Amino acid sequence: MGLFRLLVILGIAYLAYRLFVSWQRLTQQPKPEPRKQVKNVVPCHFCRLHIPEAEAIQKNGRYYCSVKHLQQDQDS
Ligand SMILES: [Zn+2]
Repeated sequence: MGLFRLLVILGIAYLAYRLFVSWQRLTQQPKPEPRKQVKNVVPCHFCRLHIPEAEAIQKNGRYYCSVKHLQQDQDS
């Protein structure tokens, strides 16, 4: 009898866990689009051209569209 009760409790606990997981998945689904680096656009510090962060050249917390503008900005 004791073992049977334990199994029932374990079964209920398992079901509750499964319910909790599926409920969490449901509430988490309408997420505002997953962050994609390509969508993150940054302005070039030299010419203000907007470029994807993944393609930008970063230096000292500033973004540049090309190495040329990075050098030109540092020259001035
Ligand atoms: Zn530029």
